[in-house]
Amino acid sequence: MGDVMDARTERSDPKFKLAVLYHPDFAVHGYPALRDRVAPAFQELKERGLLDSEDVELLEAEPADEKLAQRIHSSSHIRGVINSGYYDIALLSAGSVIQGAVEVAAGGSACSFCFVGAAGHHASSDGFWGFCYLNDVAMAVTYLRDVIKVKRFVIVDIDPHFGDGTRDILGGDPDVLHINFHSGYAMGAEEGTNNLDIVLPHQADDSRFMVGVDEALQAARGFDHDILFVVFGHDSHSDDYGAFELSDGAYDAFARKLKEFFPSRVCYVLSGGANPRVARRAIGDVIEVLAG
Ligand SMILES: [Zn+2]
Repeated sequence: MGDVMDARTERSDPKFKLAVLYHPDFAVHGYPALRDRVAPAFQELKERGLLDSEDVELLEAEPADEKLAQRIHSSSHIRGVINSGYYDIALLSAGSVIQGAVEVAAGGSACSFCFVGAAGHHASSDGFWGFCYLNDVAMAVTYLRDVIKVKRFVIVDIDPHFGDGTRDILGGDPDVLHINFHSGYAMGAEEGTNNLDIVLPHQADDSRFMVGVDEALQAARGFDHDILFVVFGHDSHSDDYGAFELSDGAYDAFARKLKEFFPSRVCYVLSGGANPRVARRAIGDVIEVLAG
């Protein structure tokens, strides 16, 4: 069984700095609020020449296995997603995240960035809302544990909305540290769990955000882990629909700071955000940092 890799012990140098996971269906069949930003952001990567770099691999996303979704979500949840009309795009989005996580876990790329057509962090074991249908990160965690024997994870969710679905599914897991930026309400992480809530004011600016980022990354550093997921919502921009009031420069600053702490084994998962101009800048900047 030499092909079953133990990712905690085998850490050869990755071939690529960055894997970008994409599928054109995200821009066509994605949830309406999220899909209009997809093609412009991908076009931005082309215009910046980022996909021509020999350090970057572009991979076409494939749908996740339905059985994996059934292990995370109840049968009534799955039926609800099928009835919503977004089941196929949710499976393709989760597949993008799983592949991106595998790339970094198996050592093909130092980091990955996963485009999606539907988000995941509001999908709990038995309910979904907020443009989220299947919990992509929870599915990736389950897959990595099964197939690559990866054990411990940090999730840094900087989407300004509380990642209630992820907290529901993984919040009690002793091998997961769930760090959640949000503005809505001070939920407070439960005693005896690894969770950390970073609650920022509604109109938090870049400097306030970066104080939270420092706190998050210090906590992540203190938690021995194999893979770090970033739930990347640019709805935190002042010109997008979420609560924070971040500027154009915030996402570059975030990615640079995170790279200082964790230069590899990082998987970015696209989350909230609707504004194509913001998406071009935010996603382009993050990928430029990861590819550099
Ligand atoms: Zn959001």
